[in-house]
Amino acid sequence: MSMIKKILIANRGEIACRVIRTARELGIETVAVYSDADLNAMHVELADQAVHIGAAPVGESYLLGDRIIDAAKRTGADAIHPGYGFLSENPDFVDAVAKAGLIFIGPSADAIRAMGLKDKAKALMEKAGVPVVPGYHGDNQDANFLAKQANEIGYPVLIKARAGGGGKGMRLVEKPADFANALASAQREAQSSFGDPACLIEKFIQNPRHIEMQVMGDAHGNVIHLFERDCSMQRRHQKVIEEAPAPDMPEDVRQAMGAAAVAAAKAVNYQGAGTVEFIVDGSGPLRPDGFWFMEMNTRLQVEHPVTEEITGFDLVAMQIAVAEGQALPVTQDQITATGHAFEVRLYAEDPSNGFLPATGTLDILVFPTADNGVRVDTGVRQGDVISPHYDPMIAKLIVTGPNRNAALLKMSKALEELVVHGCVTNRAFLSALVIDADFAAGRVDTGLIDRKGADLTARPDPTAQTLALAALAAVRPADAEDPFANFRLWGAARQVVTFEGDPNISIFVETIASETNVTTPLGEVTFSAVLRNGPELWVEENGVKSRAIVHKTGHGVLVQTAGHDRFFKFFDPSASASSGKAGALTAPMPGNVIAVVAKAGDSVSEGDRLLVMEAMKMEHAITAAQDGVIAEMLVSEGDQVEQGALLVRMQEDE
Ligand code: ADP
Repeated sequence: MSMIKKILIANRGEIACRVIRTARELGIETVAVYSDADLNAMHVELADQAVHIGAAPVGESYLLGDRIIDAAKRTGADAIHPGYGFLSENPDFVDAVAKAGLIFIGPSADAIRAMGLKDKAKALMEKAGVPVVPGYHGDNQDANFLAKQANEIGYPVLIKARAGGGGKGMRLVEKPADFANALASAQREAQSSFGDPACLIEKFIQNPRHIEMQVMGDAHGNVIHLFERDCSMQRRHQKVIEEAPAPDMPEDVRQAMGAAAVAAAKAVNYQGAGTVEFIVDGSGPLRPDGFWFMEMNTRLQVEHPVTEEITGFDLVAMQIAVAEGQALPVTQDQITATGHAFEVRLYAEDPSNGFLPATGTLDILVFPTADNGVRVDTGVRQGDVISPHYDPMIAKLIVTGPNRNAALLKMSKALEELVVHGCVTNRAFLSALVIDADFAAGRVDTGLIDRKGADLTARPDPTAQTLALAALAAVRPADAEDPFANFRLWGAARQVVTFEGDPNISIFVETIASETNVTTPLGEVTFSAVLRNGPELWVEENGVKSRAIVHKTGHGVLVQTAGHDRFFKFFDPSASASSGKAGALTAPMPGNVIAVVAKAGDSVSEGDRLLVMEAMKMEHAITAAQDGVIAEMLVSEGDQVEQGALLVRMQEDE
């Protein structure tokens, strides 16, 4: 037993802040590490001490184990908490930490190694009697051999990078003809993300649900589980919403899955917090023989808060206790669950543009408050920048209710109250998701989001009301300095605002006595009262007051109502009429060109792959927007391009 008095957190963002919070509650001092980009980051501000460890790219800072260990020694920290990602599942780092005489708050290097590669882990689990997904997880990586294996397993199959994580290097293949390409692409992504191209092949489970068990082990051989989380709401194999408990989980399935998870952890002498992930047959009611081991994540998960909310335990505090050598504070039968919790991941990304990661400055960032029963785990504040260097997650919103419905309503409200401007986010997408009929009814599976994709990202046409709100947000109130001032127009009785459109949208705002009349191309709207309160715009119509969130920038205004965000761009008469050339393709995000598939002179059809870009270690195919002939391919393999850079020029029709 060795008391931990000072912890260095080898991470950044929300998880660093999360760990610091518990450490403080326990009276433990904290040390942050930071890169050039994080000089003023929230985790640096919250920690008692902070050490600069390098440049912004993760390879030059947060992945440099030696510098981090050095920082721990210099500040007299006696333990290192790795958070998730970065070095959290790097066994060499764990060894180095031990060698430096420090405590690693997490499992042993051996346990991480045993679970690190999906193929080896599956073999180990088979031996421990844990059900695993049928498939090939051997060493032979010959493409023809793997194709034969896929035929034997039976389509559809899933190709997975054995070193995989975060859905990278994973391809669903529906038919044999697609296998070779999918394998090559998965191997390429696996190589670039993990430095290991090897893949395994698995049977693709139909109507799959992702249900995982939280486990915790101590140095005395005790392992408990803290029930399950359902993470079936995914996009591109990445979790979007998580909940606990899993909807319609029968008690016997929970017991069986819990026992399997504990057996999995015991097979590797697991210590600390871990998660055993299962793929579950969701085609009918859940069965005790209808789930299979996928992998074990040997760290604290992003979605751990939902477990904390229903069990009442602080998982970080437990991690610290077992790292000190203490026995688990509870036995399995002392753990109970109450209520239902959800977590949504708020990302800087653009749902209407293929969910491409976005960057920007968080000009306005107002979270729903704890008064309303909302827990917000975040690592950013208003004014902070979402940079291209790190994961673009802005925050996790966590709500708990007495039952699933109540919790879901609360989440819906929380998303409505959330205000974030300055970079594109998935807020409206999450709002649409939590009121989706199937999701609300608990009919979840990992394909739900993809199937409904278009509906969930659809942006309804603006109404006269929305246009009126945009105009009110654009015109200047009488006392612009006082955000609480009642709305009166500046100077003129009538103001006109023109937004870009086809045709442009001109809107007239007129105040007569206490009434505000707004004339839009879609009709007239009369408000009996208009009140600005910071980013809130309250309007009263027919005796009913309602609220919108508005934000004005130099280019236009953003209007946020219940489920939707819409940006109205000011018409700029000086800008040239048509800038974008038809058929020209530009880079949707900054990144690298990793493959060029087409060349000048090629005839292509709409949707054909022209080239492949990589950003945030994910591949994105750039496809032809229309049928035509390529006039010029402006980039080649290996090129680094900026967002908006011209990639391909198409021949213009004569
Ligand atoms: P990663 O480590 O990259 O996150 P996982 O093995 O955890 O990959 O799988 C991620 C997701 O992919 C799962 O949550 C599930 O939605 C889907 N998935 C994985 N294996 C299967 C399978 N055999 N059948 C169906 N879906 C699967």
